[in-house]
Amino acid sequence: MSPRVPTEPTPEEQRLLAAWRTFFEANCKADFAALASIDDSVWGFEIQWEQLEKHEGLGLAFMSDMSTCLASGTIVLEEQFSLHNLSPRPVIRVLGFSELNRYHIADLRMRDRTRFLRFDAVVHSTSRAMGWLKRAAYACRECKHEWVEHEQLARARKKLETCPMCLKNAIAILDAGGKREDLPDPRNFSMDLERNYYEDVQYMELFDPTSLQSDDLPEDVPTIMAILSEEYVNQFQPGQCLTVNATVGIDHLPSRDYIRDTRRILRLDVHSIEEGFSLHED
Ligand SMILES: [Zn+2]
Repeated sequence: MSPRVPTEPTPEEQRLLAAWRTFFEANCKADFAALASIDDSVWGFEIQWEQLEKHEGLGLAFMSDMSTCLASGTIVLEEQFSLHNLSPRPVIRVLGFSELNRYHIADLRMRDRTRFLRFDAVVHSTSRAMGWLKRAAYACRECKHEWVEHEQLARARKKLETCPMCLKNAIAILDAGGKREDLPDPRNFSMDLERNYYEDVQYMELFDPTSLQSDDLPEDVPTIMAILSEEYVNQFQPGQCLTVNATVGIDHLPSRDYIRDTRRILRLDVHSIEEGFSLHED
């Protein structure tokens, strides 16, 4: 009854998991062997788009629903890492996308939001590294149910009123002729701080390479905010030339002074980064 209660993978999810298994089997055996000596806590596992695209519908799955596709891939990759006794937590980074995804930062408009695109970009500045609560964990004192809520970056944390399992049980009890007095209190739950998951993130201002006139960083140049996560945090410096593969998202104005302000700015939710431009001359 509640979407929050974990369920068996759907046939589509099972198909995705199977495709990822054969993908890693066919393409990545050597990578796992070479990683044996890595002791980083997070490891960006790089995959070439050319290989992914032609493998059992994974290319289509990636472009139509990137987060579902990557979630399945991560489950399989974590299995592989544990099978090979690799200690880092892997993050899938797909690189080398087709030039069909090419776009210019200066051309971005609101209509482009949700598109997955490839940009040449120069780093203007970076924020300090920070963390955000990506998955909030809860535990119920009545029924001992434990569950996780996925949060959104820079949005209010979800407000939970009841334990989903207690609600489900309550309906079953009432259906079976039980009395209201017999029901557990579904509000008797709390956040489980130990199981909360925080992700490292960093904001980076990028600008279009066409604004580069000399070797110096231009002072007054239109920039777009990009959000980096995990192993990309604190890896890039102002002036660095990059190829950025990202989904176009929208965000509130950083300077908004009232909460229901309708103005929005575009931002880039970075999936992967390649060093150097792929289109412009360096
Ligand atoms: Zn409960």
